[in-house]
Amino acid sequence: MTLTNMPPTGELQALDAAHHMHPFTANGQLAQKGARIITRAQGVRLTDSEGAELIDGMAGLWCVNIGYGRHELAEAAARQMRELPYYNTFFQTSHVPAIQLAAKLAALAPGDLNHVFFAGSGSEANDTNIRMVRQYWALKGQPERRVIIARRNGYHGSTMGGASLGGMAAMHAQGGLPIADIAHIDQPYWWGEGGDMSPEEFGRARARALEEQILALGPERVAAFIAEPVQGAGGVIIPPESYWPEIQRIVAKYGILLIADEVITGFGRLGEWFGCQSYGIRPHIMTIAKGLSSGYQPIGGSIVCDEVANTLAQDEFNHGYTYSGHPVAAAVALENLRILQEEHIIERVREETAPYLAQAWGSLADHPLVGEAVSRGLMASLALTPDKARRAAFATEPGNVGYICREFSFGNNLVMRHVGDRMIIAPPLVITPADIDELIARARKTLDQTYAHLQAEGMLKAAA
Ligand SMILES: *Cc1c(COP(=O)(O)O)cnc(C)c1O
Repeated sequence: MTLTNMPPTGELQALDAAHHMHPFTANGQLAQKGARIITRAQGVRLTDSEGAELIDGMAGLWCVNIGYGRHELAEAAARQMRELPYYNTFFQTSHVPAIQLAAKLAALAPGDLNHVFFAGSGSEANDTNIRMVRQYWALKGQPERRVIIARRNGYHGSTMGGASLGGMAAMHAQGGLPIADIAHIDQPYWWGEGGDMSPEEFGRARARALEEQILALGPERVAAFIAEPVQGAGGVIIPPESYWPEIQRIVAKYGILLIADEVITGFGRLGEWFGCQSYGIRPHIMTIAKGLSSGYQPIGGSIVCDEVANTLAQDEFNHGYTYSGHPVAAAVALENLRILQEEHIIERVREETAPYLAQAWGSLADHPLVGEAVSRGLMASLALTPDKARRAAFATEPGNVGYICREFSFGNNLVMRHVGDRMIIAPPLVITPADIDELIARARKTLDQTYAHLQAEGMLKAAA
């Protein structure tokens, strides 16, 4: 394809390197190499500035649930921009898109999650949640309930609050994190940390770490527990089935609030509208973003239960964002939800593509480099290992092998991400079985190339 109005790739890369600071990137290194520039996209496929076509195995950043190229969303944005491009929801005003979206989300969300506080992103929504749960307990006459328990290797965003809730050591190491009164417990990652326990035993043990942490802190100090139903950025870590029921029991026993961070698992990723429905979790607050608009506009929020919302309503909540409930973003989100619903995209995930992916992705487990290949809904991961039987890590620094594998994958025009030495995918929900076959073929080729490379470099060694 000829793109007549576009400068040559090299020129764009030079400008990018000179002026654009990329998130989560060693920018010096990228400047040497040059960024891959994505120019257009359709369905599950991206096109780069050289005309190569890639399968987007990550739906952007886990967000393009309905796939690329849906003009209805562009029309919804244009219509809303012409009518009312912006107005705020502070100081006793409202507008149609925010009202309609809040009502729609209340209808879709389970139980009495009937109230929505809007933000511009998932990180902002989690910052809201920190203040909201602390304010809730203050209004209940228990202001000492301030501590929020989260998990190591969880991801809740990159603002000061979001990154503090998150359990990413590399993020905490920069900028003086975490903020006060956040505690972390270990994750339910059986393959990596389960030792000799069965997955079910291990799931219960890691859930009981919550109870131990509550007792260590003093139950009267604990405000809430926050977790992703399935850890996404931590490496698509699917908890053993025993985990969530035990967490639910502990949360109820100590009367603390449960926040389900549904930024990835919401809006169909696990074959239900929300991940908590897939696991039978009953949260008091859900964090949403990403798939809410399929990434077409930046928007996030918190869906809040009656008890918390009604308590909060007793006083002014001194919190909000200029773009809370932005009318254009809200209009686009509404159109996105309409498409998800009317085209039965989530049912198709549940009944057709998730089972298909489970089988196809699961077949990669026979590869000599793969320790486990697991999926839930349309998120999947595999563990790279030099020794399957021992579930061993590589002798080289964690992430080295994953990075090599990711580079081969990118070369094969498959966007597959690495988290340490786990490879992960979370494709658009509109991916078809034929697309999945193509994705798996590229993934298998990638694994073969990685294996050959590791062999040649003498890197197939297990850590002591
Ligand atoms: C991406 C993500 C966030 C942060 O959302 P942003 O829109 O990037 O701020 C929070 N929680 C989870 C689980 C996420 O995956």
